[in-house]
Amino acid sequence: MSAGKPSILVTGGAGYIGSHTVLALKQAGYEVVILDNLVYGHRDLVEQVLQVELIAGDTSDRSLLDHLFQSRNFAAVMHFSAYAYVGESVTDPAKYYRNNVLGTLTLLESMLAASINKFVFSSTCATYGVPNFIPITEDHPQNPINPYGATKLMVERILTDFDVAYNFKSVRFRYFNAAGANPQGLLGEDHDPETHLIPLVLQTALGKREAISIFGTDYPTPDGTCVRDYIHVNDLADAHILGLEYLLNGGESEVFNLGNGNGFSVREVIAAAEDVTGMVIPVEECDRRPGDPPALIGTSEKARKILNWQPQYPGIKDIVSHAWQWHQSRHK
Ligand code: UDP
Repeated sequence: MSAGKPSILVTGGAGYIGSHTVLALKQAGYEVVILDNLVYGHRDLVEQVLQVELIAGDTSDRSLLDHLFQSRNFAAVMHFSAYAYVGESVTDPAKYYRNNVLGTLTLLESMLAASINKFVFSSTCATYGVPNFIPITEDHPQNPINPYGATKLMVERILTDFDVAYNFKSVRFRYFNAAGANPQGLLGEDHDPETHLIPLVLQTALGKREAISIFGTDYPTPDGTCVRDYIHVNDLADAHILGLEYLLNGGESEVFNLGNGNGFSVREVIAAAEDVTGMVIPVEECDRRPGDPPALIGTSEKARKILNWQPQYPGIKDIVSHAWQWHQSRHK
């Protein structure tokens, strides 16, 4: 064990937020094992950059999990693995309930059997649905408007019930819009297919797309385009280490929003990308994308207070410029 710190199992550690958190865990001295089914994760990043043990497998494989928990001594599990395409969750909900809910339940039951009771969970602001008020606090009602958000809410509910019944302790993080990349250019966002605004804007800057589509210009927002709270992926990773340590120090189950509390419109993000890249990025004004709330902004005062979390890169320019560095290196 390195530096006397315990071993942590990270599911989905070959994915976007998971990989940044694995790097932060390693840098903090934890021993890390990744479990990833590699459907969307990147083996090359694990082998070349993270250099930790990778087990290629699924959270719904109970015998693999039981064997893993019996043969190792994990102090906690950080659970990133999930399908996360909102549109696909509408057209193929079975895939989402099976993987995100049943897969997680299998993982949790295997943890219980191995007497591991500390769990850090990736939830989402999509569990809130269309907000009644902004900024969104953790006690805002949760009414997800798509199956993806519903799967995350179901797991949150399972975790609440597991704490009551089994003394199972969890930290649930509800992320706003994860964005950016490792500031040293080691890791970044690499989805296939890509649906997120910032990578698509940067792919347009690279000439990989003709124009960036703006989904809706008639929203009740200052410039008519949707407003989102973008949070740097490294700041998310830092929050996960703090959440883990909170649990390792005996903390009770908690839920925290993770965002910056600042909203940026689609047009403002494109303007920031033009500033960072020095290019004019062609846009195409399109109809609204179904299911997009006009504005999502969260307050993370609770994480700041209880976990002492302090985002290092709250500005949209840092977020976009780190992402740009990554995209340029990855798409040479
Ligand atoms: N968006 C857009 N064009 C795109 C992709 C996204 O205008 O090609 C908008 C989308 O409608 C939303 C915002 O950008 O208001 C962020 O979308 P993203 O998919 O990145 O994250 P989400 O908010 O859906 O989690």
